[in-house]
Amino acid sequence: MHTSLKLTPMLRQYLEIKEQHPDAILMYRMGDFYEMFFDDAVLAAKELGITLTSRSHKEETNKIPMCGVPFHAVTGYLGKLIKAGHRVALCEQVEDPREAKGIVKREVVRVVSPGVTTDDQILDEKTDCYVCALAIGKKSKEELIAGLAFVDISTGRFQISEVVYPPGNPELVADEITLLKPAEILLSQSDTEQRQDLVDLFSAQVEQLCFTVRPDYHFDGVTARNTLTEHFRTTNLAGFGCETYTNGIRAAGALIQYLRETQKSDLSHIRQISPLHQDTYLIIDDASRRNLELTETLIGGRRAGSLLECLDLTVTSMGARLLRRWLLFPLRDPDAIQARLAAVEELLNKSETRKIFRTLLDSVYDIERLCSRLVLGHGNARDMSAVKLSLRELPALQHELGSCQAPLFKSLNVSFDPLIDLHALLDRAIRDDAPISLREGRLIKEGYHAELDHLITLLRDGKKLILALEQTEREKSGLAKLKVGYNKVFGYYFEVSRSQAEDVPDYFIRKQTLVNAERFITPELKELENDIATAQERRLELEYALFADIRTQFATHNQRLLTTAGQLATIDILASFAESAARHRYQRPAINTKGYIRITEGRHPVIEQTLEPGRFVPNDMHLDQQTSQLLIITGPNMAGKSTVLRQTALIALMAHVGCFVPADSADICIVDRIFTRVGAMDDLRRGQSTFMVEMNETANILNNATENSLVILDEIGRGTSTHDGLAIAWAVVEELAQKNTVGIKTLFATHYHEMTVLATNSKKICNYSIAVSEQEGTIRFLHKLVSGAADRSYGIQVASLAGVPPHVIARAQELLTAIEKKEGRSFRSIQSSLKKQGGADTPRQMSLFAYDAGPLVRLLSSIEPDEISPREALDILYRAQHLLKFKHEKM
Ligand code: ATP
Repeated sequence: MHTSLKLTPMLRQYLEIKEQHPDAILMYRMGDFYEMFFDDAVLAAKELGITLTSRSHKEETNKIPMCGVPFHAVTGYLGKLIKAGHRVALCEQVEDPREAKGIVKREVVRVVSPGVTTDDQILDEKTDCYVCALAIGKKSKEELIAGLAFVDISTGRFQISEVVYPPGNPELVADEITLLKPAEILLSQSDTEQRQDLVDLFSAQVEQLCFTVRPDYHFDGVTARNTLTEHFRTTNLAGFGCETYTNGIRAAGALIQYLRETQKSDLSHIRQISPLHQDTYLIIDDASRRNLELTETLIGGRRAGSLLECLDLTVTSMGARLLRRWLLFPLRDPDAIQARLAAVEELLNKSETRKIFRTLLDSVYDIERLCSRLVLGHGNARDMSAVKLSLRELPALQHELGSCQAPLFKSLNVSFDPLIDLHALLDRAIRDDAPISLREGRLIKEGYHAELDHLITLLRDGKKLILALEQTEREKSGLAKLKVGYNKVFGYYFEVSRSQAEDVPDYFIRKQTLVNAERFITPELKELENDIATAQERRLELEYALFADIRTQFATHNQRLLTTAGQLATIDILASFAESAARHRYQRPAINTKGYIRITEGRHPVIEQTLEPGRFVPNDMHLDQQTSQLLIITGPNMAGKSTVLRQTALIALMAHVGCFVPADSADICIVDRIFTRVGAMDDLRRGQSTFMVEMNETANILNNATENSLVILDEIGRGTSTHDGLAIAWAVVEELAQKNTVGIKTLFATHYHEMTVLATNSKKICNYSIAVSEQEGTIRFLHKLVSGAADRSYGIQVASLAGVPPHVIARAQELLTAIEKKEGRSFRSIQSSLKKQGGADTPRQMSLFAYDAGPLVRLLSSIEPDEISPREALDILYRAQHLLKFKHEKM
């Protein structure tokens, strides 16, 4: 494209730089603008909605598409491009144009991509922004292993993990990736070519995910390990607890290599790497996270309406982000959970302390991100001021922390660093009204640096200093009429009358003779004049240098700042939990390791808040391993089955997070995983049918649930024909009730009333239903969970409530009566067949659709065996066999 053009030196330079960044939009600094050319310009103009122009130079034969954005507004434009999933290389002038010989030297100083940014206009303050690297290796003949590494460059958080998976089941890797929801994924060239299934899956699951292909050698085991040990300045990685993550290390090394290339600055705020220890957390797979609407709603993907939004009363962005991580990684260690609960309880009881914490934290800015920006060299004086204002609150926070008794607060207090020295430095150095730009001066306070003070005095009092010198010279020379003057030709001068010209001191240098006066200069006057004239320029340079020096000092203390920031976020969450408990009457849950869940008057935290106070109907729930392990919950549509299922899962999860729960009381056992299969919704993004998604999720549950898991199944089997659906649902319940011989705690909501007979066959399976009251054909939802199966489904009444026209309702009623008449016998026969199998605890394989045994039974009951001959007996036997055959053919 460009070869036919005759290029100016500037465009040649542009193309040389562009060649090094083919996958990024190159923003090329020209004076006060960032310009984009060729295809970049066409793309950027479209994404940014700015005018596409063209450039033609007299030497250039063709017109070149171009567009530009003013440098002072670049962040907004950059943000738009990044959010649209593009990568941008910022190319700056790296020498003073006045000193340039020929074309000004330019370099790419930073590459910004969706996963690698520290700009607060691009980042969402309440969400971590991760870039992830993925390296696939072989575990065995049948299994692959995915090594994963995640970095949030805006906070320096760096994590590693590995997932073993069979080649046909990349969902397990997707689960791990979507947990942290990265904005960008790095893949090696060969993994990109060979693992298209993963690429497709991730693109479907994470919206606007940016894929970045990197050379294979960055993912080489030895190279990656060396990159990491070099970065951390350690000899090995054992100290980080990730020495054994062979493939994780490949990914982590490639990630650091990528950051080095794109950031071109210090990465020292990435101080450690830590494993995402799965076994210390309650695991919630991706489907369950979505189904339970933990961080966003199922429909629309909005934060509003999620558990996170409902619980988030934090006042800092750091707290809000940490809360998200707490919800995605609930604890499994009872002591750690109790420690959080005890701290929340203390703040609930001490409302004054809670208020003080929240007020002080409210003045704390996002220290984590501010510091990372400062370390990376992007931070400005406003960022410093924000850090200063935040640090100002720390002594008071520490004082309040000291008054708390809960062990978690005590341990926070022991290690709490109020960063007094750093606050003092900022307080002495940084002006409160500092501008955003670092080149305009007014950054540093007077009194911080003697030379700067001198320059400021020169600028402010320049005239006064000249007049003071005039006075001095008058006194020294005794010439009372000596006065100072100024002109454009030779600047400041001393003037005396012609008659006094001979009396001036000998260091006066004659400059000009007028009719009545003589003008002189002195070396001191010229020096002062020069000092004043250059003071502004020197001031700007000095202020910048002093600022950069403070920024460097901050970088060396970054770890201290981050540790304190993490502690503030923790206090913020604990106070937020206490505030929720106070506002919504949440109670402290008891935690047990005995495998039972007992909730009295439990509520759904999110739905409760959408209703008027007191309108939510609370429900009790009891699950254990012996007598109430699997609850089959029936009831009409809209009765509240899903709500009671979800609220049980959410209450269990909140307890594991260390949060008080919406119930009068709750005793929750430690759970290793929560699985949910909720609703029947097409996952069009993944191109899968409703039924396929449903079965995938069901398979995942059956394969991975343990006796310590909690399983929530809502209307499983509805995505296919009634008989297939019922058969599958039935078999799934049987399996869950006997899995690993112990069974799994399960809540199973269904419209298949046939399944309620399962409870007669096992003492672990119980029937529950959601009560409704019916009067004159109209039903009223009571939303109350009661023992025993629902007698019918009231589908037609619900349809009527929903506004289906009366004649359609009447016809439906007619059809229902006919269908029930036809199927009634078969349903009864299932029940009798199960009863005949006895009440064994372990359900066995049962015939679902037992044939109608009526004629055979009638035949057999009509005979008296003692009174018939052998010949008659043989006859009856033939007839019985005939009846059996006839029945089978009909079926
Ligand atoms: P379907 O079988 O059609 O899926 P469902 O039985 O699962 O229905 P839910 O979706 O749980 O019913 O509840 C329907 C609506 O009823 C909820 O959106 C809520 O507004 C209300 N509701 C459910 N439970 C309660 C409750 N305990 N107290 C007050 N309102 C409730």
